[in-house]
Amino acid sequence: MEPTTPLRDIRSLTQDEIRALVEELGQPAFRAKQLIEWLGEKQAASFDEMTNLPKALRAQLAGRFSFNTPVEVTKQVSRDGSRKYLLQFSDGVAVETVGMPSRGKLAVCVSSQAGCGMRCAFCATGLAGLTRSLTAQEIVDQVLHVQRDFGERVTSVVFMGQGEPFANYDAVVEALRMLNSPDGLNIGARHLTVSTCGVIPGIREFAKLPEQFTLAISLHSAVQGTRNQLMPGVKKYTLLRLHEALQDYVEKTGRRPTYEYAMIDGVNDTNPEMLTLCDFCEGTLCHVNLIQLNHIPDSPFRPSPVEKVEKLQKMLASRGIEATVRNSRGSDIDAACGQLKQRIVNAR
Ligand code: SAH
Repeated sequence: MEPTTPLRDIRSLTQDEIRALVEELGQPAFRAKQLIEWLGEKQAASFDEMTNLPKALRAQLAGRFSFNTPVEVTKQVSRDGSRKYLLQFSDGVAVETVGMPSRGKLAVCVSSQAGCGMRCAFCATGLAGLTRSLTAQEIVDQVLHVQRDFGERVTSVVFMGQGEPFANYDAVVEALRMLNSPDGLNIGARHLTVSTCGVIPGIREFAKLPEQFTLAISLHSAVQGTRNQLMPGVKKYTLLRLHEALQDYVEKTGRRPTYEYAMIDGVNDTNPEMLTLCDFCEGTLCHVNLIQLNHIPDSPFRPSPVEKVEKLQKMLASRGIEATVRNSRGSDIDAACGQLKQRIVNAR
């Protein structure tokens, strides 16, 4: 049997290509405008939805193009209302995405890669390795999926699912722009947050973007030896260089980076570790997010006791450094930070 080539995703066409297509089909020019609206602002996921296009035209389009939207393999709902999805793309690769509702807002945690190559010792995704990077459309499709499932507008997106966003820089920036665009999902740039384990070339490029996207850095230790053990994938981007890159970022953008610090019992919660973190942050524009490590199966790392987290927050505050203690969401469904596991689903 002849293998059938998959139809091209209509959403990958440029506006010029759509205009040319409409002309080729012998349709009046205003049909192009309607189609562009369905694919942009209205974020259609099928030709059936395009009710102001004639049925015959919709059928013609469906014969030539597809919507390669991901398939929901599983959905788990947490006691706190968070929902974790396993979404599978047309080649069988799947990623996890989390929707987190709170007080009329809806935040989405997206994956930028299937798996991750950074090998952070405390992270479930890191332990499994990298399968492949996602395209911009595949990243945006995760947000659209959550938006449809909740029937609510997504108000913020964090790139804190599987993958290292700056190891997939171009697709991530393209996705950010699709999410931010008034012709797309129209989510404010400040409500779009990219989290990196500290890939310096990515931070330097990110600083040049005109949009006010938010940057988060997974720090986890300000002691080089400890950080090398916890985050071997970014060993070459030393803390000294990271500190310098971040000061340049602040100078250039005027924006405040966030440092993520997951507290691990006996590892990064000792007095010297806490003091070194204070030194790293003092006198710089930053915000520190403290969380207790989420325990993952078979891991030697344990969460620090709550008292240690509170102690570090006080220490930071006494040095004039803003810090927030964050609660994990969705931990009962393994949807919390670092708990997302890469899974490859055998398609057929
Ligand atoms: N690769 C990116 C984004 C993905 S992870 C990055 O490293 O920033 C999102 C956040 O979850 C990161 O801060 C990561 O270090 C953290 N994380 C990973 N495993 C965790 C765990 N077991 N407990 C708490 N946070 C964890």
